[in-house]
Amino acid sequence: MDKITLIIPVFNEQESLKPFYTELNRVTEEMNEQEFEILFVDDGSTDISLEMIKEMASSDRRIRYISFSRNFGKEAAMYAGFVHSTGDYVAVMDADLQDPPSLLPEMYKGIVEEGYDSVATRRVTRKGEPKVRSFFARRFYKLINRISDAKMVDGARDYRLMSRKMVDAILAMSEVNRFSKGIYGWIGFNTKWLAYENVNRVAGKSKWSFRKLVKYSIEGIVDFSTLPLKISSFMGIALCILGALAIIFLVIRKLVFGDPVQGWASLTCIVLFVGGVQLFCIGIMGQYLARTYLETKKRPVYLVRESNIEEKE
Ligand code: UDP
Ligand code: MG
Repeated sequence: MDKITLIIPVFNEQESLKPFYTELNRVTEEMNEQEFEILFVDDGSTDISLEMIKEMASSDRRIRYISFSRNFGKEAAMYAGFVHSTGDYVAVMDADLQDPPSLLPEMYKGIVEEGYDSVATRRVTRKGEPKVRSFFARRFYKLINRISDAKMVDGARDYRLMSRKMVDAILAMSEVNRFSKGIYGWIGFNTKWLAYENVNRVAGKSKWSFRKLVKYSIEGIVDFSTLPLKISSFMGIALCILGALAIIFLVIRKLVFGDPVQGWASLTCIVLFVGGVQLFCIGIMGQYLARTYLETKKRPVYLVRESNIEEKE
């Protein structure tokens, strides 16, 4: 009998957990050929989510949970889920029903019958999302796919069912700053994409603000591309060439026309411009250096406060 692990990151989802669990049960009953492990990862919720999970766990032997010492973010929650998953197949699923559990049978079929390593989901519409956000999201995917080896699919959700092989590959990526869209793209494997219409969350609010998304996308770029560094070197070279040309021009003008060099305004502009470019480039370098700094500290990705899983050796 195949075992499927469902990883459910939970951060303040007290309103969504009940409807989610009901729907999940409906689907798992339908898939009675498979065994399920339901792994809730409580990412430092401050509402009663954890109590609700514990209550569910007391009457459902399939449920296991891990509770973090604070909010570490969804990336950390997913990673903890992968680390503790024991299933032959593993899926990450949001607790707000935006990742419809009803797609599971089809996803499972894609792996078992059609031979894919993973079946992922992609929303084809961004309905219900602010226009500005959709616009910048599209630009981000265009850009990142041009500058990175890791192919990232526009509209891809974290919701996907994966084979054990693929989960092990994800765990082998040892970075502490985890950007899973990039990790999925980087490790490769055969992925089948299921498209579906965007569903609004069943209750509660999205945890993403526009600011957080901007920060997240910069992380994605810095984590999976070194192009910004190259751009800064090119800017340096371009400015050197420009400077050399300017010198030649001034010398010739002086020799031929005897014009004294004049105008401090233009000089100020140049100094400001070049200074700005320099600081900008140092800033880019700083971003990478900061990443390196954080990586070398090897801090744990998450800390567990309590759980009903016996720690693996
Ligand atoms: N989540 C989490 N930690 C966080 C933020 C979110 O574990 O810091 C969980 C959240 O409970 C939900 C999933 O990640 O199950 C997706 O979050 P959300 O619905 O806010 O994201 P969106 O669907 O808007 O991208
Ligand atoms: Mg959501």
